[in-house]
Amino acid sequence: MDFSLTADEKMIQEMVRGFAQQELKPQAATLDAEHKMNLDNLARMAELGLMGMNIPEAYGGAEVGVVPYSLAMTEVGRACAATAVTMSVTNMVGEVICAFGTEEQKQKYVTRLCSGEYAAGAFGLTESLAGSDPGSMRTQAVREGDYYRLNGSKLFITSAEYAGVTVVWAVTDRQAPKSRRISAFLVEQDTPGFKVGKAEEKMGQRGSATNELVLEDCLVPAANLLGQEGDGLKIALMALDGGRIGIGSMAVGIGYEALDFARDYAKERVQFNQPIASFQAIQWMLADSYTEMESAQLLVLRAAYLKQQKTRFSREASMAKLLATEGANRACYRAIQILGGNGYIAEYPVERLYRDVRVTTIYEGTSEIQRLVIARHILNA
Ligand SMILES: Cc1cc2nc3c(=O)[nH]c(=O)nc-3n(C[C@H](O)[C@H](O)[C@H](O)COP(=O)(O)OP(=O)(O)OC[C@H]3O[C@@H](n4cnc5c(N)ncnc54)[C@H](O)[C@@H]3O)c2cc1C
Repeated sequence: MDFSLTADEKMIQEMVRGFAQQELKPQAATLDAEHKMNLDNLARMAELGLMGMNIPEAYGGAEVGVVPYSLAMTEVGRACAATAVTMSVTNMVGEVICAFGTEEQKQKYVTRLCSGEYAAGAFGLTESLAGSDPGSMRTQAVREGDYYRLNGSKLFITSAEYAGVTVVWAVTDRQAPKSRRISAFLVEQDTPGFKVGKAEEKMGQRGSATNELVLEDCLVPAANLLGQEGDGLKIALMALDGGRIGIGSMAVGIGYEALDFARDYAKERVQFNQPIASFQAIQWMLADSYTEMESAQLLVLRAAYLKQQKTRFSREASMAKLLATEGANRACYRAIQILGGNGYIAEYPVERLYRDVRVTTIYEGTSEIQRLVIARHILNA
């Protein structure tokens, strides 16, 4: 077993680290304060190949694989979580179109996501009455000749206000068993009846827009059905498995960023005539959280490796997301504890990191849903 990165993986990691540290990190506090994404950053990321890392070159992707994608997400997550989540969802949308789309859909949408012609992609699954249980959604799609007429609404959709294309899920057959009830559609931003609502006021990741979507007699060409009618739940669950690698990788980045800051602070801050890093209480917090983040990164990379090998990785992705996001939450909590009062003050970055990391145990499936997936695999083994 070889745990070392290949020369290409190291090169990509270093390239993304350089970009993220120099260009994204200095802007993270401003994007948070102004609640605004910097679309120029997204265009630059597309130029660097970061918006389609696991997508074939034939569709404009970088085609470097899932392990480099995970490493890149960790670096971008370290620098700016709001930008990282945008990158994660955009890659996920490109990949799901690649996996289930027609040749025409791939040529049209995936190339635009990868090139930056579309600032981002969005994933429209959640509704106010259907979160962890997407199969119970209400949005409806009715076939009318060459179109589907969509009516309903979506909630908490990342990047919806600047996404060129949104994958929207809707019920196509209310009578079908739950697993075959919904279908997925590719909806362009300027489609009549597709209305992006207000961006939510959020605790963290404030630079990333999270919008409501309203579909009012939204006519989507039948050619924009993704996969077959009834495939929607399968498509969503498959996309979420991969998405969990992205969010787990990002959480590892946020956790390490908070810990590195706390470590440096603990070496400088003197109380009782000695650096607080000399107290065992502080050392153990650092030791526990670095151990947890390192084990989480191993799990995340293992899930990425399995996906790259095109073998089953659902259980591993859920385990990785669970440990990485809960571990990163603990790391940020401890980082604030190590900084004491300063940790709570917005002038210090751990205050933002603590807010940014919180949602990672909620989106792309809550921690409870990850445990449910893991337990199903264990019990059905
Ligand atoms: C900032 C942000 C960005 C988001 N971006 C997107 C996006 O781009 N696209 C999108 O489609 N969605 C997005 N979401 C939605 C997100 O995926 C959901 O919030 C999440 O899946 C949980 O759904 P819910 O909020 O309805 O909570 P609920 O499903 O109502 O869950 C509430 C609580 O009940 C628990 N629970 C539910 N079912 C079970 C069960 N069977 N067993 C045990 N516990 C259970 C949950 O774990 C949770 O603790 C985003 C959310 C946020 C906050």
